[in-house]
Order: sequence, then structure tokens, then C-alpha cells
Amino acid sequence: MQIKIHRGAHEIGGSCVEVESHGSRIVLDVGKPLWAEWNEQVPLPRVAGLADGSDPSLAGLLISHPHMDHYGLIDQVDARVRLFIGKEAAVLLKAAELFSSAGIELHPAGYLSDRVPLQIGAFTVTPFLVDHSGFDSYSLLIEAEGRRLFYSGDFRGHGRKASLFKRLLDQPPLPIDVLLCEGTHIRREQARDEEPRSELDVELSLAKTMSETTGAACVISSAQNIDRLVTVYRASKRTGRTLVTDLYTATLAHEIARPTIPQPGFPDYKVYIPNRQRVLVKQSGEFNRLEFIRDCRVFPEWLLTNRNKVTLLMPSSTVPELLRAHVLHDGAVIWSLWPGYLREPSGARMRRTLEEAGVPFVLDHASGHASVADLQLLAAALLPGRVVPIHTEAGDRFDEYFADVEVHGDGEWWEV
Ligand SMILES: [Zn+2]
Repeated sequence: MQIKIHRGAHEIGGSCVEVESHGSRIVLDVGKPLWAEWNEQVPLPRVAGLADGSDPSLAGLLISHPHMDHYGLIDQVDARVRLFIGKEAAVLLKAAELFSSAGIELHPAGYLSDRVPLQIGAFTVTPFLVDHSGFDSYSLLIEAEGRRLFYSGDFRGHGRKASLFKRLLDQPPLPIDVLLCEGTHIRREQARDEEPRSELDVELSLAKTMSETTGAACVISSAQNIDRLVTVYRASKRTGRTLVTDLYTATLAHEIARPTIPQPGFPDYKVYIPNRQRVLVKQSGEFNRLEFIRDCRVFPEWLLTNRNKVTLLMPSSTVPELLRAHVLHDGAVIWSLWPGYLREPSGARMRRTLEEAGVPFVLDHASGHASVADLQLLAAALLPGRVVPIHTEAGDRFDEYFADVEVHGDGEWWEV
């Protein structure tokens, strides 16, 4: 079995890996690099058959999780290439279609599901459901020719599904010849590895902010971060507030339809449709999209009257209209996203607007990626013959944290 990292050896995101055995090939992820603008066309990595679907040796494309930096170039992949992704991940991406350029309808040939092996070409692939900020995310064990490769995908050990990480440590699929391991938190200039903030930490500190706020607590997050939805809902409940989400978040939760995920129909869940989303629904003419929120839809007047007992979970673009409707009077805005976005013009603009309006602004976030200590725990459990870095800006520093590191550049074939 041989393997080539097409992209990801020297950067976080844009991951794409090709694996070959006796002329049979599979591709792991086909991500859009994080450096690309949202509307920028980035060419597909040069994998035979990926763009034209004409090479029968290409047995399949596997998407580890529904984040752009892992599937974002899929619109250039020929429809005949057999696609594998988590079932709920596919549901989430389809449900996102109206609201986000990240949404897409896929037609998988099969689904990744936890610890259910798949035979794809010459490979046996066993997915392991993992804890990550992306929904329905998997690590992948790939076996061929008696060799065993473990692709970590993106994962963490401090989210709402931390038990999955613990289970992997307790029941590792041994033996492993190569661990292809994400290293988001192994940095070029390594700050000291602080204990990561967990989703529970965020839940507790959000609850504290909510209890100290007289008016509306408005949490800015990504609709696709379902773990964070649960966290915000739980914090909201702790403080006796009603959760009000936008239509995008509500649609995802409704379509995923897991009884454990807060969604319309829950007694303390309401939906406010921001102007931008109202226009999208109108333009699409798909008014049936509003059926499921008929009994829990609220309007600005309701938000204004009830502002002392609501938590809003909204995209940042909603802040100006909430300010105009005075809903944030006596309230607070909590940024529950990667703080790096605040350095972008739109983030800076929103901060300035809030400052002028005298609305307090708080940061409250937990990373979607494993701490260095958790990466080391994974390696200690899997005992791989070699650790190969991916999804990192500092693969050359892996040897400070792991034994038997082998660094391979983009575009280089090597043996597992
Ligand atoms: Zn990633």
C-alpha cells in the first residue's frame, strides 16, 4: 500500500490524500484550502479519474467530515466517482443549501458509519466516529496488503462527544503501521499547550454571562456547529432562558432530526428569521420551508418584549437588525467562533458597531481540534510504527512530541 498527500502536509485544511494498492486507489478528502477566498476556484489535486470519472482504478472518494477544508472541491469531482460520507453529514450539507455556499446535495454510493467496515476497491475501510466541531466526523482505518493506516481526520477530546475519544483510547484498533495525524495545534511558534477549554467550560461560562446580563444574550456561532447549539441550549436552560435561533440553524437541527439535538418542537425553542434569510426563502419560493416553525416563530416585537429571558443564537450578520429593533438594549453579544474571524473586516466592523451602541462584547469559544496532549494520548494508544503529520503548519515539529515521526511533503509517494 502506498500513499501520497496531495495537500495538507504543510498547511491546515485543503486536505487531500491518495492511497494505492495493486492498482486500486481511494482518495481521502478533497478539501478547499483555507487560504482560498470563498468564491475562488481552486483546481482539484491531480488525481487520475477524479475530475473526469473515467479511470476505473479509482474506487472511491471518502469525505471524513462536512467542513469545507475537507470536501470543498467536490463540485469539481465527476459524479461517477463513488462517494462515501457520513449519512447525517450528507443531510446537513443538503439542508444548508439555501443558506450557505457551503451547502450541497451529494449522491453518496455508501455511508460511513461508526465501526462498520466497508470494502472499497482493494481496501477495507473502517470509520471511527470522533468528537469534532464538524458534525458526523470520522477517523478512518484503511487496510490493504496486511498493512494498516489510521487517518485521524479532524478530531478533539474535549467536546460534547469526548467519550468517543476515550473509547478510541480504551479500545484502539491495533496494530497500526502508520498514523496520519492532524496537528492543527502543533504550531510553528508553539505557545505553551494550555489545557483546552471544553464545551462544558463554554456551557458554564455562557451561563455565567447570561445570568449577569439583564437583556438578551446573543451568541454568534456557526449554524453547522451542532455541538455548540447543544452547548448554548444547555447554558440557556441553566439560566431559565428560551433559546431563539435563526432559520438556518433550526433547519439543520430539524433535518438531522435527532431527538437529543435541540430543535423546533422543543418547549423552550423559538425561531427568528433574520432579514437576509427571509429574502432567501422568498426568492426560492419554497415557503414550505417555514412549515416546521409555524408554532414557534417569533418576530422583533416579541424579542423586544421578552429580551430579558431569551438567548439568541444567530449569525453575525443579524447584529445590525437586532440593534435597530432595540432587542440588544441591556443585552450582550458573545462571540462563540474562532477569534481569528474578528480580524477580518466584517468582524472588526461588527465590533465597532457594538462598541458605538454600548453593547458589551464577550469571547467564549472552544477549539474543534485536539490539544497537543490529546494528540500524544492518541499516539500512545495506537502505538503506530510511524507518525506522519497532516493538517498542520508545523509538521517539522512533530518529532518534539512523538516518537518515530516521518515527515512527507505534498505530492510525494511513500510506502505504508
Ligand atoms: Zn480541517
